[in-house]
Amino acid sequence: MKLTVLGSGTMISPSWRNPAGYLLEQNDEFLLIDMGPGIIRQLKLMQMDLLKINHIVISHFHLDHCSDLLAFLMNRFLLQESANQSLTIFGPHNLKKWFNSHLQWQGAWLKNALPELIPFKKQTVNLGNWEIMAENNGHTTESLSLRVSNGRTIFYSSDTDYQENLIPLARDADLAIIECSLPDHLKVSGHMTPTEVSIFANKANLQRVLISHIYPQNDSPDLKQRIAREFDGEVIIGNDFLTIYL
Ligand SMILES: [Zn+2]
Ligand SMILES: [Zn+2]
Repeated sequence: MKLTVLGSGTMISPSWRNPAGYLLEQNDEFLLIDMGPGIIRQLKLMQMDLLKINHIVISHFHLDHCSDLLAFLMNRFLLQESANQSLTIFGPHNLKKWFNSHLQWQGAWLKNALPELIPFKKQTVNLGNWEIMAENNGHTTESLSLRVSNGRTIFYSSDTDYQENLIPLARDADLAIIECSLPDHLKVSGHMTPTEVSIFANKANLQRVLISHIYPQNDSPDLKQRIAREFDGEVIIGNDFLTIYL
């Protein structure tokens, strides 16, 4: 499996850290996780053919995770009118409601060629060969953390506070993409700090964590050390266009 980080930052990050987005590839099947502002441009910069992406997962509706989704659908429609009918989108329990709220402002291009929408109901869904397990994480009422498998397994925390109930979802994953928004002394609820990431990684028996969703206040050269203090596994600090083969 190949992972490309499209966005390792947040809304207020500098230009080299785009808001959230991750592209997974296995045997020429592509899965896009989250689409913050700028993800379309990131895909174009890496010369990705947008029509090759058939599956999308949206973790929650904060704009740094979903604001490029409708623009992405329009882009595909303009390339090929029927393109979105072969697309599946998995997302929070209120995914259809979110879509419906946008339909009135869009034309027939969206109404007449809607992608297949799969709202979170049961824990496991299959999108092509991708198996997605999801769990509400409490960041917002609809927010999900994910475990994505296709040969190899990736845990994606998305935005979340430290939550014990996510440990089984993350346990023994080949790679865990974990948000680490702010340093310990600037802890806010709904997000994780370096110490919380290390406790979580130890409890989930993780060997390899990829740190992402990094706010400028946490973005210092010692970030890796601050996590590695309590965690013996491999710590990778996320960067846009970082590619990892699993
Ligand atoms: Zn959020
Ligand atoms: Zn976020």
